[in-house]
Amino acid sequence: MNDIKSFTLEELKKEMERLGEKPFRAGQIYQWMHQKLARGFQEMTSLSAALREKLEEEYTFTALKPVRVQESSIDGTRKYLFELGDGRLVESVWMKYHHGNSLCISSQVGCRMGCAFCASTIDGLERSLEPSEMLDQVYAVTLLTGERISNVVVMGIGEPLDNYQNLLRFIALLTDEKGLHISQRNITVSTCGLVREMRMLADERLQITLALSLHAPTDEKRRKLMPVANRYSIEELMEACGYYFEKTGRRLTFEYSLVKGLNDGKEDADILAGLVKNLNCHVNLIPVNPVRERNFVQPDTKNVTAFKNNLEKYGINVTIRREMGRDIDGACGQLRRRQRALQ
Ligand code: SAH
Repeated sequence: MNDIKSFTLEELKKEMERLGEKPFRAGQIYQWMHQKLARGFQEMTSLSAALREKLEEEYTFTALKPVRVQESSIDGTRKYLFELGDGRLVESVWMKYHHGNSLCISSQVGCRMGCAFCASTIDGLERSLEPSEMLDQVYAVTLLTGERISNVVVMGIGEPLDNYQNLLRFIALLTDEKGLHISQRNITVSTCGLVREMRMLADERLQITLALSLHAPTDEKRRKLMPVANRYSIEELMEACGYYFEKTGRRLTFEYSLVKGLNDGKEDADILAGLVKNLNCHVNLIPVNPVRERNFVQPDTKNVTAFKNNLEKYGINVTIRREMGRDIDGACGQLRRRQRALQ
């Protein structure tokens, strides 16, 4: 590995040793990368020109190029389309909330999970992102907005648990007190339900929030929406969620995209309630975001409200996700698809 931004401080110290440099150089470089958010070695003005040259030769320094920015005129949400070093594209979405700024980042270029309603997966997986490339999204948007990001949600393009090791390294670097020092509690990782990795994550005992994309109350319905449901049953998923809570003490989030006529009935709400009512959790209802290539339809507002009320009758904590950036291709992967169609 010679991707310098993906090294931990300890690893960087070993690298400096290898290059015959003083160990304190590692601290300086780390601070330039992860606190001062330098975009290249040449910005590291406390290093000698000779050392900067040497670093250029030894390492790659990932950087993102903003290709497009769309700002919602409704709520100020900004969607960024970034080009990676190899020309591939990812999206990040910046949202302003009263409790601070939140950034939704991508973890892969494309996705191989194949969810029927999702635009990110249509052309499959191109590759996973490096830890540095996930950090770069946070760093670039911080620089572009000039505002601190307090919450990071890994809910953009890709399945984060299908890029498990890089995800863990990303979290370690992002929460490092010598970096941006974002609190683990302010990080959410969303998964379509890779049970093995959910359990591995639980064993890490991090204080991050795990969000599970459930979207259906029965295996039969879930299989219609999510191929991963052929691999793991809802029962196995719920057990893994229980395990996550047991190990971390963190309340889980269940995401449930409502699709008209498919998973939005009273019976669906009743079964869903039965699944989650004994877990310490929160249910997030999301009226499905219409994607051009797909023909899923949102339920009427009154049906969404009825679904919510029904869950609440069981004492379940539930919110309807406020739709942000509806006017700017809010749904996962749509901006990337549009840009690629133009190229
Ligand atoms: N792969 C991860 C994270 C990325 S998707 C996961 O599956 O959780 C983030 C969330 O958006 C998931 O809950 C996903 O199911 C949902 N999603 C994707 N496309 C959507 C759409 N068109 N409408 C509503 N939700 C969508």
